Amino acid sequence: MTALVWFRHDLRISDHPALDAALRAHDRVVPVFCFDDRLLAGRHASGPRTRFLIECLEDLDAELRERGARLVVRRERPERALIELAGITGATEVYYTRDVTPFARSRGRSVHAALEAAGIAEQALPGLTVADDVAAVRTRAGGPYAVFSPFYRSWLDIPRRAPIPAPAHIPSPPGLDHGRIPTADELGLSAALEGAQRGGEREAVARLDRFLRGPIHQYAEERDRPDLDGTSKLSAYLHFGCLSPREVEAALPRGEGPQQWRRQLCWRDFYHHVQFHYPENARLEYQVRYRGTIAWTEDDALFAAWTEGRTGFPLVDAAMRQLRRDGWMHNRARLVAGSFLTKQLGIDWRRGEQWFMRLLIDGDQANNNGNWQWIASVGVDPQPVFRRVYNPTLHLERYDPEGVYVREYVPELRRVPRRHLAEPWKMPESVQREAGCVIGSDYPRPVVDLAAAREAALARYAAAAAAD
Ligand code: FAD
Repeated sequence: MTALVWFRHDLRISDHPALDAALRAHDRVVPVFCFDDRLLAGRHASGPRTRFLIECLEDLDAELRERGARLVVRRERPERALIELAGITGATEVYYTRDVTPFARSRGRSVHAALEAAGIAEQALPGLTVADDVAAVRTRAGGPYAVFSPFYRSWLDIPRRAPIPAPAHIPSPPGLDHGRIPTADELGLSAALEGAQRGGEREAVARLDRFLRGPIHQYAEERDRPDLDGTSKLSAYLHFGCLSPREVEAALPRGEGPQQWRRQLCWRDFYHHVQFHYPENARLEYQVRYRGTIAWTEDDALFAAWTEGRTGFPLVDAAMRQLRRDGWMHNRARLVAGSFLTKQLGIDWRRGEQWFMRLLIDGDQANNNGNWQWIASVGVDPQPVFRRVYNPTLHLERYDPEGVYVREYVPELRRVPRRHLAEPWKMPESVQREAGCVIGSDYPRPVVDLAAAREAALARYAAAAAAD
């Protein structure tokens, strides 16, 4: 008997419950990936992320070959490709990993209908999050969670399954046209980013090993510092499923750093839980009082200054240029950049969300949307608005005290003395000339007055809440 294993955001062979179940129940297994134009050209299409995906698929194919199989690639909707392949191979069942995004769920319904009509059975298995069924975590009252800390406490108590080792051999039917992974050129992708990470399970495992051997033990102290290499940079690998979140959790050593890191992994599970239960958040604010009530500023010039890293605030500019160069941004920098766009500039969080999805290699609908709503103070896990108006000059003093991060990404500021780095516009003219950084020509003047912008933000939210 033959089964298809339909790969999506689970591009690995280690701890892959769907692959494992298929191998246990069938003599032969066909691993399949479908390039679906609805995703390649959809609302969240991204050249950098698709390049990474191609690398992940090449790596997956190499790992499958070592075990006697090939990745079968189709540039077609799964509704059609899976039925065709089942017809050719005589497969009686399709196995896949459960997903929670609104798109995955609606596509899943079409796939389900097509398989049912063709008399093909299907099995959805866990593997996307640490918790096997992240949607099933419930409050005492039986509802879904909308606040992180109590979710975290329940999540810690969920029984965990043992990770599944990678299979040694994957028997596959011979003579199958396995197709070809398209190249970046064939897909018309934009040029590769200079600092992009390389995709694939083997790269992910090497990174995880390095992180577990050293930085994780300082994670509690260093995780908020964009000037240090203190976080794992595993987000893109977790997004594409090159690593199993469950297996990663099981590998954690003891200690404060690992415990803090595990808590961050839980944020990922939390936002997947939220995405499942509140799919309307994909377009609307979770907090009903802010739906359509906030008077966002429609200023394309300000938005462009933000995307290009030309706001005149060094930490915001470094953050936005890191995104353009590396397709990744440090979490503290994401928070400051997000607060700046939505609070100090008063621009709709959806524009920021979209921009991040275009460039982030780890761009993930659940995590990105959840975090944008969080920093815009319109989402789950609410706090009073003033708590999430982050001051970019104070943040620079605190989290990049020597200016290492800012100087790395904003070369105009490299020779600016440390004491002027947080507020370069206050630099005396003689120092500007000496540092080769004349404000207004070499580096922009600040696009807003921080104190006034903060007051305006608080007033904007207060008016919106009153209008509800
Ligand atoms: P580490 O600090 O090593 O954390 C380990 C893992 O935990 C991460 O890889 C990630 O999977 C998870 N994690 C950590 N923090 C968060 C968090 N706040 N929310 C959810 N999961 C978390 N993360 C994404 O994976 N994709 C996104 O599209 C995304 N968009 C964001 C947008 C904004 C405005 C903000 C403020 C945060 C966003 N994050 C997103 C969360 C976080 O910034 C990244 O997960 C983190 O910076 C990735 O770096 P790392 O792997 O070194 O993280």
